[in-house]
Amino acid sequence: VKDRILTGNRLEARLKELGYVGSKLEFSDFEFPARATQSFLNALDPSNAQDPLLLQILPQEAEREINEGYSSDPVADQKYEIVPGLIHKYHNRVLLIASNSCAIHCRYCFRKAFPYHSNGISERMMETWSKYIRSKPELKEVIFSGGDPLYSDRKALLRLCEQLSKIKHIKALRFHTRVPIVCPEMIEESFIDSLALLPLRIVFVLHANHVREINDESIALIKRLHKREFILLSQSVLLKGINDSVEVLAQLFEKLTDNLIMPYYLNLLDKVTGSAHFEVEHEQAMAIYRELLATCSGYTVPKLVRDDGGANKRIFT
Ligand code: SF4
Repeated sequence: VKDRILTGNRLEARLKELGYVGSKLEFSDFEFPARATQSFLNALDPSNAQDPLLLQILPQEAEREINEGYSSDPVADQKYEIVPGLIHKYHNRVLLIASNSCAIHCRYCFRKAFPYHSNGISERMMETWSKYIRSKPELKEVIFSGGDPLYSDRKALLRLCEQLSKIKHIKALRFHTRVPIVCPEMIEESFIDSLALLPLRIVFVLHANHVREINDESIALIKRLHKREFILLSQSVLLKGINDSVEVLAQLFEKLTDNLIMPYYLNLLDKVTGSAHFEVEHEQAMAIYRELLATCSGYTVPKLVRDDGGANKRIFT
């Protein structure tokens, strides 16, 4: 399945095969290298330099700009990181960064500078994380966040989930992931079966930014997850030139809802260095959001939020 992931020359060659005509590709010259899956590439239109899927994966010169207010750690991971890969920011939930990579590199990624080399699911880390979680009875939920938790050694991930399920006060596991959207074939049935056996609430928060990202294979996987009674939510990032219109967002949220995924979060951009070209001005974001609320069924419109590194996300209405 790893053949489904393209980087460097292979990615450039594949894009050119599909009709990419741009001349300024520098796939190997960015610290956060370009990376995409076959299924994501199949959904984009490489002959259109403004294609909303292409813009999410194509490195641009603007990423080298330094802008005021942007930093390498916009959500303050370092402040709340108790031990490598364990972030305790919210009162009753803890975040585990249990994977050090992703199937796709989103150019606006808020963790593109995260020191992943020190993370991963080793037996030693599992023990360290479990020990901390056992010692905090206020914790009810473990959230697996990006690097993508489903782009990892799934046997080790299951061992960790089983270990966590034995901690009395833990009631839920939540996976924030892009894999079911950008590489659904990566999720084996045996993994879904094993998760379903755990005596815990299992929640998937699927990351999708544009309706064209959701293909038939993703939908088939989503149906299988739904059959297991997992809770399915979505999160999206509001991105300039990609989904900054009422029409595009409404289409996305409707498709998610049609497929029994409840739109959960619409995130304002996390201000990570090199992402200023994706920012939608706050006033414009609010205008888009208010029109969504006025024109769509309320339950199809996610919360508009910003994580600015505080102890809770800010919610806008
Ligand atoms: S999938 Fe998530 S963690 Fe991975 S590059 Fe995209 S935004 Fe970042």
